[in-house]
Amino acid sequence: MRRVDSTQGSHIEIGGKTFLNFSSNDYLGLASHPTLREMAIRAVEKFGAGAGASRLICGSLVAFHQLEDALATFKKTEAALTFSTGYAAALGTITALVGQDDIIILDKLVHACIVDAAKLSGAKLRIFDHNDLNDLEDKLRWARKNSQGQILVVTESIFSMDGDAAPLREIVALKEKYGAWLMVDEAHATGIIGENGRGLADALGVSNQIEIQMGTLGKALGASGGYICGSRTLIDFLVNRARSFIFSTAPIPAAAATAMAGVQIAQTAEGETRRKNLFARCAELNSKLKIEDAKLPSAIIPLILGDENRALEAATKLREQNIFVPAIRYPTVARGAARLRVTLTAAHTAADVAELVAALNKLAIEN
Ligand SMILES: *Cc1c(COP(=O)(O)O)cnc(C)c1O
Repeated sequence: MRRVDSTQGSHIEIGGKTFLNFSSNDYLGLASHPTLREMAIRAVEKFGAGAGASRLICGSLVAFHQLEDALATFKKTEAALTFSTGYAAALGTITALVGQDDIIILDKLVHACIVDAAKLSGAKLRIFDHNDLNDLEDKLRWARKNSQGQILVVTESIFSMDGDAAPLREIVALKEKYGAWLMVDEAHATGIIGENGRGLADALGVSNQIEIQMGTLGKALGASGGYICGSRTLIDFLVNRARSFIFSTAPIPAAAATAMAGVQIAQTAEGETRRKNLFARCAELNSKLKIEDAKLPSAIIPLILGDENRALEAATKLREQNIFVPAIRYPTVARGAARLRVTLTAAHTAADVAELVAALNKLAIEN
């Protein structure tokens, strides 16, 4: 871990030096936004610092209910439930929904929290090749034949380390054909993709066919926490069954108030301007690096180097030029698929992107 002595933003301070930061998932630049800061301060003044206990034990503070109502409206679902993190949301939800008589089918590249949840659930686990609809259908056919129980398919909408999108319409059609449930993790799409940043499922017009919509409040929304959106029945069930919700102290109320401000800003003209800036930066970087935009609909731009040492060396050389880009290696990605994972945010300027491109070009020449 590198100790950062500044706020999160397009520039961060490490060891007395300022770095241009391309490592954050704060895609809209909201983490240090004045309104989010202000809402956090007001929540502390109104509700105090800590929440005291689990929401089922100590009473459930109004800040959480307001946030959940706002999330349900934002995602156009009947209800929402928030968790202390996205990780906790996945763990609690998947283990509540499936058990040893059931089958869970995951895209090969889903986030570790989904893999861990699937293992902990005790359900039979099958993996389909990344975004491969034929392989998914094979696994669904097998599951139908071999189980009387529930089948749960889980994927992401925008994948965290590759920045590519899942074919959600086709996946929805398949899960309907085989009578499975679908859970989609929109951690890297919520706030940035589609109208008002509602996410990819909404942009593709399939959100009302996805039983379980998951995301985090800690990335584009600028705060911290995780959420599940879905039917009232689903949410009531989770309140009573999701162990990471029941047996864990509620987040600090300021986290809910901050996330609430993030959800609201995402849906304003300011949110739209921030998304426009973000995607303008993405287009600039993609065109300079000669990457086709269509392949990369997100703010995550992986520069795959393959060898782990090459990736580490590249990250070190960029740091020598005061640019912070993380080298991502096994086990976060497959062996031999090490990469620089560049993330852009609305807080970056065209000059920031130009500086990154110049540094990357210098690296390419030196190698
Ligand atoms: C970050 C992330 C999570 C976890 O969310 P946290 O709120 O950080 O715990 C879950 N899924 C994906 C795809 C993520 O990238």
